[in-house]
Amino acid sequence: MRDDTHPPYRHHVLVAGGAGFVGSHLCEKLLREGDLITCVDNFLTGARTNLAGLIDHPRFALIEHDICARLEIGPPLDRIYNLACAASPKRYQADPTHTMMTSVIGTHHLLALAELHGARLLQASTSEVYGDPEEHPQREDYWGHVNCTGPRACYDEGKRAAETLCFDRLRQGRADARVARIFNTYGPRMQADDGRIVSTLIIQALEGRPLTIYGTGTQTRSFCHVSDLCAGLVALMEVAPNPGQPVNLGNPGEFTILQLAEQVLALTGSLSELVFEPLPQDDPRRRRPDISRAQALLDWTPRIPLSEGLRDTISHFRQVSDAPLPRPAFRPTTATHDAAPLSGVPW
Ligand code: NAD
Repeated sequence: MRDDTHPPYRHHVLVAGGAGFVGSHLCEKLLREGDLITCVDNFLTGARTNLAGLIDHPRFALIEHDICARLEIGPPLDRIYNLACAASPKRYQADPTHTMMTSVIGTHHLLALAELHGARLLQASTSEVYGDPEEHPQREDYWGHVNCTGPRACYDEGKRAAETLCFDRLRQGRADARVARIFNTYGPRMQADDGRIVSTLIIQALEGRPLTIYGTGTQTRSFCHVSDLCAGLVALMEVAPNPGQPVNLGNPGEFTILQLAEQVLALTGSLSELVFEPLPQDDPRRRRPDISRAQALLDWTPRIPLSEGLRDTISHFRQVSDAPLPRPAFRPTTATHDAAPLSGVPW
């Protein structure tokens, strides 16, 4: 159980979505840097196993909570990272209204907390705000090409609205809000079955099944290792003064999906074949960040090449698939501080 009465700690940090893929790595990094962490998660796509190395740490507490409902937190917060939102199309399309409300109502609630506590807030936005881009690479001043009625809109438009909330609060002087536009990120603890391209190809290769390629495989993506991303998130949170504009975080190396599949086959030693399926609706054709703003403002640039990051990710999935089943149960956790939803989910 966390002991809040005897700091020392650097900052009290709320990580919403801290049990997810990126969130769990961010919590680990912040703990290493001396912060007191309150992780808030409804376990929609997060997992207790992601918190295995954290749960007994004296500076870590977990609150199971949906950010669509209001939240009270103590002791006073210094930093809020809002990572809460299902990130894979398969998961966020399962309940599109909840996805949109997580970004809009959830961000509104966390901004209210930031205002109340005088805390900085970093919103995890996404390259999806650029939609199927007509400019390449994508710079932050590009306004995007999003289909607001398509199946991806619950995510894309929700994130765009969340950015609007952040910049309005900032302009009003009510909250020190910052916005990271995150591009495709991969690494250990991605969910094996959520349809994201890196994990899907690795699992298929390790299991000796055909690798699924959507469309011709000539569409491009950039892939950022999660440790590089977390370094960028912290740099953006800590930079002063507030940049007052969104900042792309991603790896500008651009690969076709076929090139990714070839690397996965080579690194796993798999003899799997490729099978081609139709491209999903509104799937972007090209995606590559222009990170000159992050380089100039944050002195940040990703360090981990794709081959090295893939090795690390493959090794994680090998370990997970070798793990004995059933996996050990985690003890239920209770928050060590005052935190309660004040209302039910409001729709
Ligand atoms: P993830 O699905 O692994 O993590 C999201 C976490 O948020 C999960 O633990 C989930 O249970 C939690 N969550 C979802 N809805 C919630 C709610 N209403 N209340 C409380 N918790 C909730 O996704 P991720 O890949 O770790 O992404 C983290 C953030 O970064 C997301 O906001 C995502 O949109 C953004 N992002 C990620 C990527 C990427 O490539 N991973 C790219 C762009 C943006």
